[in-house]
Amino acid sequence: MNKKHTLGRWTVEDSADLYLIREWGAEYFSISKEGDVVVTPIRGKKHVSVNLPEIIEGIKARGYDMPVLLRFEDILDSQIVQMHESFRSAIARFDYKGQFKGVYPIKVNQQKQVIEAITRIGQFYHHGLEAGSKAELIAALSFLEDKEACLICNGYKDSEFIDLGLYACKMGYKCFFVLEMPGELDLIIERSRELGIKPLLGVRFKLSTQAGGHWTESGGDRSLFGLTISQIIEVIEKLKSVDMLDCLQLLHYHLGSQIPNIRDIRAAIQEACRVYAGLAQEGAPMGYFDLGGGLAVDYDGSHTNYMNSRNYTLDEYCADIIEAVMEILNEVNIPHPHLITESGRATVAYYSVLLFNIFDTNSIDPGTVPDSLAEDAPEILLNMMDVLKSLNIRNLQECYNDALYYRDQIRQMFKVGDLSLRQRALGDKIFWSIMHRVSDYSKSLKFIPKDLTDIDIALCDTYYANFSVFQSLPDSWAIGHVFPVMPIHRLNERPGRNAILADITCDCDGKIDRFIDKQGISRALRLHALKDNEEYYLGVFLVGAYQETLGDLHNLLGDTNVVSIRVSEDGSHSFVREIEGDSVADVLSYVEYDPKSMTKRFRATAEQAIRESMITPQERREIMNMYEAGLRGYPYFER
Ligand SMILES: *Cc1c(COP(=O)(O)O)cnc(C)c1O
Repeated sequence: MNKKHTLGRWTVEDSADLYLIREWGAEYFSISKEGDVVVTPIRGKKHVSVNLPEIIEGIKARGYDMPVLLRFEDILDSQIVQMHESFRSAIARFDYKGQFKGVYPIKVNQQKQVIEAITRIGQFYHHGLEAGSKAELIAALSFLEDKEACLICNGYKDSEFIDLGLYACKMGYKCFFVLEMPGELDLIIERSRELGIKPLLGVRFKLSTQAGGHWTESGGDRSLFGLTISQIIEVIEKLKSVDMLDCLQLLHYHLGSQIPNIRDIRAAIQEACRVYAGLAQEGAPMGYFDLGGGLAVDYDGSHTNYMNSRNYTLDEYCADIIEAVMEILNEVNIPHPHLITESGRATVAYYSVLLFNIFDTNSIDPGTVPDSLAEDAPEILLNMMDVLKSLNIRNLQECYNDALYYRDQIRQMFKVGDLSLRQRALGDKIFWSIMHRVSDYSKSLKFIPKDLTDIDIALCDTYYANFSVFQSLPDSWAIGHVFPVMPIHRLNERPGRNAILADITCDCDGKIDRFIDKQGISRALRLHALKDNEEYYLGVFLVGAYQETLGDLHNLLGDTNVVSIRVSEDGSHSFVREIEGDSVADVLSYVEYDPKSMTKRFRATAEQAIRESMITPQERREIMNMYEAGLRGYPYFER
């Protein structure tokens, strides 16, 4: 290791290495000379960047508290542009004859401003939308104006859904019904005859290819959706029998989300391409090949086939798709289709950053241990003290084992009443002193035994963070998904503490204790010691996909404040949208409380307390003011 890095002054370069921001930041996120995280939301415009601590100042000046979800609309634009440019260049390079027609799957982030921004920038590229439910179709129709763009309807379709989609076709939308289940076709045929409108049809194929990763149950034979080959043949027969085979123009499949390995992506294309060719050979006009989602985000920056990463770039993804499709279709002489992908995660992940402050910390600091114990101290404590005294670099493991043994004895003796509260406290103190020293000594060993590396985890601090994992990072809690987390300032100072983050819910699952790391996953995060009278802010990055509407009301912590930022060419930024998070009254009313009658009941209780001479009428007024202000307030920790 470079001595300068371990001993010399800590630089922003050291922070960049530690938090891997160059690896996952995708050039959107970086560190300034001053040690702040800066965001450069327009790809290729390096001079247009904004500084996160400055944005926090602006948020506070406008009267909002932490936590805040920050959204960068320009990042959405950049992601759409980049995806189309990557496909365009691959199409040109291989002389592919079809076009790329991406769609955005609304379920990945349904916020109106996301749909608004994607359809606005999307019209320059004919980027469309994917709707998986009636509500999503209704939302899509109000924002998608570009008739060249595709509108893909997946999911269960009742007659209301179908009628709306048919009218959309009549209005000139490229609105495809994708058959997910065998039963859907009859209803579509019936409604189509009734309204006299021909549908655009696709079939969803159930791949036998399986991919590695978290979310891949949705692909493969066991997947809930899609038709088997024999069911697809039945669809063809039925369409032929009603003279509607000309409606079948699209093949769809979805391998799953966050596919880390490009090999799996290629294998799926090969299988699906054969199905596509078969459908064309059966006489369906076809023309559209929809590869679903799956384009992964490199959350840990490792560029591997590990599940929080991906072992390919966007350019490689596009080139591999084009190449694989051409290879098979050229061989059987079938025209190149328009290619659709339904990339959701990769489109929106970078767009949101969760910001919060640390409101307290807790460390296992043994404090000072007395030089010697009283002669009449219990023998077990004297033994523990001997371990501390005899500890040196050559007997680390032995002392570690002894200390654990004595600690267990102390706990046992305390339980049966043989040690007092103060004696137990002294025993704990000596024990933790030993652990600290073992940890310090072990750093200079060439090979550190596993037991001893675990001490560092046991010794690490708890930083109490002002947000709720359940509300804002549901995948972190539910499936152990790892997002990049780091301080957004002080990055030119050495982060001297090892910590895990506890959220504000006080639930033992309400924590982040797995972090991205060069070696895989780290169980602690390096952070700075708090300073008096100065807030310490952290950001969780790449949270734009799937996190915003899965969140729940655990411990009645509601939606956070949201601020959307747009940057201008001159480098200035403006707050284009501010959404105030839920108040305490809001979250209570979600679970059927009525804030008005709650106030009334509490007022009556306070009146009773006056009658019983426990408080004065003036005190009642103050108490009620406080209660009502509490209802109006933000459920998170406020200073
Ligand atoms: C969820 C979903 C997507 C989005 O997948 P990403 O991996 O987020 O791109 C696309 N298509 C279908 C059918 C889906 O269910």
